[in-house]
Amino acid sequence: MATKIPDAPKIGMVSLGCPKNLVDSERILTKLRSDGYQMSADYAGADVVLVNTCGFLDSAKEESLEAIGEAMAENGRVIVTGCMGDEADVIRAKFPQVLAITGAHQYEQVVNAVHDASPPIPNAFVDLVPEGGLKLTPRHYSYLKISEGCNHRCSFCIIPSIRGDLVSRRIDAVLREAEKLVAAGTKELLVISQDTSAYGVDTRHDPRMWKGREVRAHMTDMARELGQLRTAEGKAPWVRLHYVYPYPHVDQVIPLMAEGLLTPYLDIPFQHASPSVLKAMKRPANEAKVLSRIAKWRDICPDIAIRSSFVVGFPGETEADFQYLLDWLDEAQLDRVGAFRFEPVEGAAANDLPGAVPEEVKEERYQRIMEKTAAISAAKLQAKVGRVLPVILDEVGEADEDDGSIGATARSQADAPEIDGNVFLRDVGEGRKAGDMFDVLIEDADDHDLYGVPA
Ligand code: SF4
Repeated sequence: MATKIPDAPKIGMVSLGCPKNLVDSERILTKLRSDGYQMSADYAGADVVLVNTCGFLDSAKEESLEAIGEAMAENGRVIVTGCMGDEADVIRAKFPQVLAITGAHQYEQVVNAVHDASPPIPNAFVDLVPEGGLKLTPRHYSYLKISEGCNHRCSFCIIPSIRGDLVSRRIDAVLREAEKLVAAGTKELLVISQDTSAYGVDTRHDPRMWKGREVRAHMTDMARELGQLRTAEGKAPWVRLHYVYPYPHVDQVIPLMAEGLLTPYLDIPFQHASPSVLKAMKRPANEAKVLSRIAKWRDICPDIAIRSSFVVGFPGETEADFQYLLDWLDEAQLDRVGAFRFEPVEGAAANDLPGAVPEEVKEERYQRIMEKTAAISAAKLQAKVGRVLPVILDEVGEADEDDGSIGATARSQADAPEIDGNVFLRDVGEGRKAGDMFDVLIEDADDHDLYGVPA
């Protein structure tokens, strides 16, 4: 039976007040978009309307109450956030039907309230962020979405029929959003889209002025500009590229990684290696020379971590195809691999392909690919023991009752949040917080994670 994809809930947004409030609105929307929500341009089409209020002056309060009143009248399902959210009783007295009220800069609470009012539809076939995406993005990393839709027609995928063809955002809008996110405390930007290397193809790479220079809507130009951003502490934020297809111009971003402008990490969803399966999948940029290009990338930037995902049991996949994939993985030595058993999605062309693979064969191949990739990962991580690596801190634990040591969970540049491994720290000392970036001595490793102490 094919999996049916329901429609994503739609969110309307009214943002009042100062630029700081606008950054908040954008953060909330970025998070909601990455959770699979769609935006509605009008009240009528929205499942929920968010009103981000300002309460700085009485006139601003009045304007906020007016905006809430309008949203209530036009839609009726309203969540209030922002500065005026601190005066919940004033709002409740006037609009008892409001679904939820949260205060200024409480991104997590607002997003939770939206999840409660109109639950997102987590879907492995459509969502760009992993299913754990319901977890909240801490302030120190943010998803930066650069386009919607996709021009490809991979046979297992229904995204083009749901989201349409590629529509790229203007480069100056993307860079402004990135700049604001970094100004608001983001230390790590995760660039996402359905096909990041195709960014700007639909707009002929429409150039715009940015900081006095012309910048094209193109992955390499964008990467170079993102690399110039600086956090409040004057550090370069980590910038990760996700969903990159190995078009020739990808070669041009590798030197930026070697120069430290981009995080040495590439997420390339190869999906398979066997030419006949890739052909049946109709994958873009499917070419034979990928292995030699990966080798070249590693020559230029030895620390580059390559993450990918693969589908096993695709219709028509023979044992020989699968063995080809395992041999290819031996050669490619990818750092991080996710594997999935093929599953038909309602409306996907692949469902009609001949040669369905029996469930038990899928399962057996899945186990074999997991074993192979865990062994490769373990060896790669073992080679990092003894090195000093930069990390970003995600979560600080409680002090140990016996010796007072404070454990923490961090990530290296090779680990994207939510999908890759962690660096577990046995004692970070006092005063560290999520988002801190520092060097760590790696003391141990297992199949997927590293262990260490601040250097
Ligand atoms: S590249 Fe293929 S898998 Fe990715 S969104 Fe486009 S059609 Fe779907």
